[in-house]
Amino acid sequence: MNSTASSLFYTPPDSYWGQFDEISKYNVHLNVFERLWAAWYAFMQNDVLATGILSFVMHELVYFGRSIPWMIIDRISYFNKYKIQNQKIPTLREQWKCAQLVLLSHFTVELPQIWLFHPMAQYFGMETGVPFPKFLTIAYQIAVFFVLEDTWHYWSHRALHWGPLYKRIHKIHHQYSAPFGLAAEYASPIEVMVLGFGTIAPPILVCAVTGNLHILTMYIWIVCRLFQAIDAHSGYEFPWSLHHFLPFWAGAEHHDVHHERFIGNYSSSFRWWDYLLDTESGPEAAKKRRERRLAKDAKKVQ
Ligand SMILES: [Zn+2]
Ligand SMILES: [Zn+2]
Repeated sequence: MNSTASSLFYTPPDSYWGQFDEISKYNVHLNVFERLWAAWYAFMQNDVLATGILSFVMHELVYFGRSIPWMIIDRISYFNKYKIQNQKIPTLREQWKCAQLVLLSHFTVELPQIWLFHPMAQYFGMETGVPFPKFLTIAYQIAVFFVLEDTWHYWSHRALHWGPLYKRIHKIHHQYSAPFGLAAEYASPIEVMVLGFGTIAPPILVCAVTGNLHILTMYIWIVCRLFQAIDAHSGYEFPWSLHHFLPFWAGAEHHDVHHERFIGNYSSSFRWWDYLLDTESGPEAAKKRRERRLAKDAKKVQ
């Protein structure tokens, strides 16, 4: 609603749109998104609450909003040929069961984590005001978060495959040997916390070291990370999938094999850790490993 509309419909000054009008009056240099943003924080009068509500609602909308298209694709036979394990299309009942545990974990484990992020980051000098940071700043910080998260994910996920930890914690996530979008966060609460640390800690670290982080960057990062995780679990490999253009991008093809074979391909976003540490999964990787071993043996014989 703008000021013309608000002159037709009375907006009390302490309402959200009242704040928006007030901010718009004195800050003509701000764009509409910056005004909407500033009005939200002014309206809430409590930054921790404002961030907590906004990020949790955003997380839910993106998580389910991104998973629903995959559920629809599952029901369209044309896309069957792109399903990596095409004999295993999840039923709606299975997906509903999965959604229930995911929702429970969102409200019990993720909500407190999301809530705690703001005071922690603010302690290290995180920005919440307007104007927003430059696009380039946002982009390079998110690139750093991706690299750090992937590293954390590789090592902690690999550790979760160690017998006792696998049995007690990670087995739940592996209930689906053919994953689907909604299953991205289907996991034990401990796993959600351990792997979630990889998403939350890099921004806090960057903020602590550089003193430069805007919470908008954090929001965009969470959206990117959710897209990455859900798409990696989608179970679909298309000719236009990102890893065909960025060969180091992991994508669904990489993570699907992990679910199918329970071993190897531990990274989340990139392929380099599995490549460097020889933990790539699948028949092609096994073939390469065998060839390397044979070449080594042949050298020994010489
Ligand atoms: Zn695993
Ligand atoms: Zn998975």
